[in-house]
Amino acid sequence: MLDMHTHVWPHEPGTPTPTYDQLAQICETATAAGVTEVAITEHCHRFERIIDEVLPYWEHDGDATLRAAAANSIVTESGGDLDAYVSALVDAQDRGLPLLIGIEVDRIPGAIEPMAAVLDEYPFDVRLGSVHWLGSWLFDDYGNLTFAREWENRPVDEVWAAYVAAIEELAMSGTTDVLAHIDVVKVAGRRPVDPSPYEDRLAEIVVASGMAVEVSSAGWRKPCDEFYPSPTLFDRLAAAGVPFTTASDAHVLEHFGWEYERLGAELDARGVTELTSFDRRVPRKVPR
Ligand SMILES: [Zn+2]
Ligand SMILES: [Zn+2]
Repeated sequence: MLDMHTHVWPHEPGTPTPTYDQLAQICETATAAGVTEVAITEHCHRFERIIDEVLPYWEHDGDATLRAAAANSIVTESGGDLDAYVSALVDAQDRGLPLLIGIEVDRIPGAIEPMAAVLDEYPFDVRLGSVHWLGSWLFDDYGNLTFAREWENRPVDEVWAAYVAAIEELAMSGTTDVLAHIDVVKVAGRRPVDPSPYEDRLAEIVVASGMAVEVSSAGWRKPCDEFYPSPTLFDRLAAAGVPFTTASDAHVLEHFGWEYERLGAELDARGVTELTSFDRRVPRKVPR
């Protein structure tokens, strides 16, 4: 299977350009876990160029504490050199490693177009589209006290509705290829009494956009204790014939290809026999 969503940097300070040896070790580890292709998809906000040229367009909201937490989160993880990152991945690919040049494009409110303008300069194989931010709230960072407390300030249905609207804006922009962790709004375990209207809408958005959807084991490591998409959303997407990738969202070596047997069983249960990889953003069907 593919591992189309992985990171070289954990969520902590430090953004050294990956070396060939590091990427070779990643590919070796992933291959041993049954992975055939690895996409390295570092978060866009980790690169100085994005911070300088894109984040000024960010439409912040919320109280001063929330905005300060957002700024702190970005500054803590910043420092990457986008040119050097892409060059390192191109070089590793040219030398024969089974990896794809990728990036995780966080939907930053107000900044979708400026983000795309920068990314268009680079030869990415795949751009993942993600929603982690609702205004200045990094809702999936439930380990941060300020962000975790915000769950107490907002009704769950309101959060899910805002999340789905953000996914719609991102998906219909055409700036990314794969929707990553499509229902990550459940990550902290906060779910509406009836999630089905939200899942119906997410499925409609995916079909209208023509995007692929990632099937990810990462949710099994989180408080929601469920892969992405949820079983019922996955049913809807599979029935609609949506293209899929598979992913671990690894941030450490041990997580490349993580829980892929279990993930494979979910694909089997829905008759998903082929996946979609990408070459310079052109989709390519691959057997599982
Ligand atoms: Zn993500
Ligand atoms: Zn990620």
